[in-house]
Amino acid sequence: MKIYNTFSKTKEDFIPLNPPKVTMYMCGPTVYDYFHIGNARSFIMADIIRRYLEFKGYDVNFVMNLTDVDDRLINRSIKDNIAVEKIAAFYSEEFFNDLYSLKIKPASFFPKATAHIREMVDIIKNLVGKGIAYEKNGDVFYNVKKFENYGKLSGKKLEELEAGSRVEVNEQKNNPLDFTLWKKTKEGEPSWESPWGKGRPGWHIECSAMSTKLLGKTIDIHAGGNDLIFPHHENEIAQSEACFEQKFVKYWIHFGFLNIQNEKMSKSLGNVFTAKEILKNYSAETIRLFFIQTHYGGPLNFSDELLGAAKKGFEKIKNLAITVDYEINKNTTDGTDLGFDFNSYYQEFSNYMDDDFNTPRATALIFDFIRNVNKVMAENSKINSIFYQKVKKFLQDTAEDVLGIIHFSELYNESNGSIENQLIELLLDIRTQLKQQKNYALSDLIRDGLNKLNIEIKDSKEGTTYKKNT
Ligand code: AMP
Ligand code: ZN
Repeated sequence: MKIYNTFSKTKEDFIPLNPPKVTMYMCGPTVYDYFHIGNARSFIMADIIRRYLEFKGYDVNFVMNLTDVDDRLINRSIKDNIAVEKIAAFYSEEFFNDLYSLKIKPASFFPKATAHIREMVDIIKNLVGKGIAYEKNGDVFYNVKKFENYGKLSGKKLEELEAGSRVEVNEQKNNPLDFTLWKKTKEGEPSWESPWGKGRPGWHIECSAMSTKLLGKTIDIHAGGNDLIFPHHENEIAQSEACFEQKFVKYWIHFGFLNIQNEKMSKSLGNVFTAKEILKNYSAETIRLFFIQTHYGGPLNFSDELLGAAKKGFEKIKNLAITVDYEINKNTTDGTDLGFDFNSYYQEFSNYMDDDFNTPRATALIFDFIRNVNKVMAENSKINSIFYQKVKKFLQDTAEDVLGIIHFSELYNESNGSIENQLIELLLDIRTQLKQQKNYALSDLIRDGLNKLNIEIKDSKEGTTYKKNT
C-alpha cells in the first residue's frame, strides 16, 4: 500500500510503526461556527482513509481534536457577547451532529484542547528549559532559528521566509517568524495558571500536546487540509521534535481545498455553505459520492450540477441494492450463481485504494460492477440467491463499509430521512414520466405547485434536482 507523503513529496510504501496498530491524528475544527462543506471534504476523506485501513485489517486509533480556545473563538465571543465556553459547547455539539449526519465514523477519541492545558504547559516548559522558547512579559515564543531544518515539511527556507515576512505587530518577538506558545491573559478571555503567569495556549501547541498524549511521541499518520501545512504543521513538528527528540510523524497526508465556482470559499464573498445547508437538499451518500469522485489531494470545485450528477449515481447504487435485497428475500435455490468473478472486483478495488487511496478509480469500478450485475440480471431469468448474496456482500464491504455511499439498513429512507423529501422525489419521478409521455400540462402543474411551496426545480442533462428555499 502506498501513501503520498507531503514530507517526502513521493508515494511511499505504508509501513506502520507497530502493525496491525495504526495511529492517525486529524486536525479537527475550531468550534466557533457550524462547519462548512470545505471542512466536510477533509473530514469525509479522512474518514474514508481510516475506514480503508480498517478494511485492510489494521487496528486504527483515530484521534480528531476540537480546538475550543483560540483567536477565532475569542473574536466570536466578543462579537456576540457570549462566553467562549458557551459558544464552544454549542458548536461542539453541532459538530458531532453534523458528523453523524454525514455518516462519518466517530473517532476513537475527540480530545478538547481545554482539557489538555497541563500537557501543553509541560511541553512549553521543556522548550523554555532547552533555550528553544523564550518568555517576554507573560508571552512565550518559539525561537524558530533554534530548530534545525525549520521549514522541512513545507519546503520553505528560513531566509526566504524572513525576506518575505512583514514586520509583525507583536514587538515582543525576537524574530517575526517566532510563533506564540503561550499568550498572556487579556480581560475577559479564558485563562489558566502557568509558570509564566495567567494565560492561554497558542493554537499549534494544542495539536502537539493532544497527539502525543493520546497516540505517542511518534505517530503513523497526521492529516489535515493543505492550508495547515504552513505554518500549523511545520510548527507542530518544531515543537514536538525539539521537545521529545524523536520523529513526530511518519506520513503526512493533506487534503486539497474545496472551492466554489472556482473561487475560494470566504465569508466576504458570501459563498460559504455549511454542511447542514447542503444536507437539506442532498443525502450524506450523495455528498460523499460527490467528494470521492475526485482524488483527495487535488482541488475540487463545488457546484449544484456536480452534486446533481452524484445524486443520479447514488440512485443507480440504491436501485441495485433494493433489487438485491428483494431477490435475497425470495430465496431462490434453483438456477445458477453464474460464476461471476467477485474476487477480481475485490482485487481491483484494493489495487486502486492501495495506490494512495485512489477513490475516483475505486468508485468507477463500483459503477462498472453495477453495470455488469444489471446486465447479468437482464440476460438470465433464473438466478440462484447465492449470486445476490455475493453482490450484496461486495457492495457492503466496499461501497458501504469503506466509502459510505450506500447503507443497506436505510434503503427506504436515504433521502435525508424525511418523509417530506421522499414525497418530493416521488412527485419529481412522476413528473419525469409525464414529460416522457409528453403530458406537459400535468408535468408543469407539478413544477408550479412545488414552486409555490418554495421548492425550486432544476432540470439538467443529468436529471432533475430540487432546492428548498427557506
Ligand atoms: P478549521 O476549523 O478551519 O481549522 O478547519 C478544520 C479542518 O478543515 C482542517 O483540517 C482544515 O484544513 C480543513 N479545511 C478548511 N477549509 C477547507 C476547504 N475549503 N477545503 C478543504 N478542507 C478545508
Ligand atoms: Zn492541528
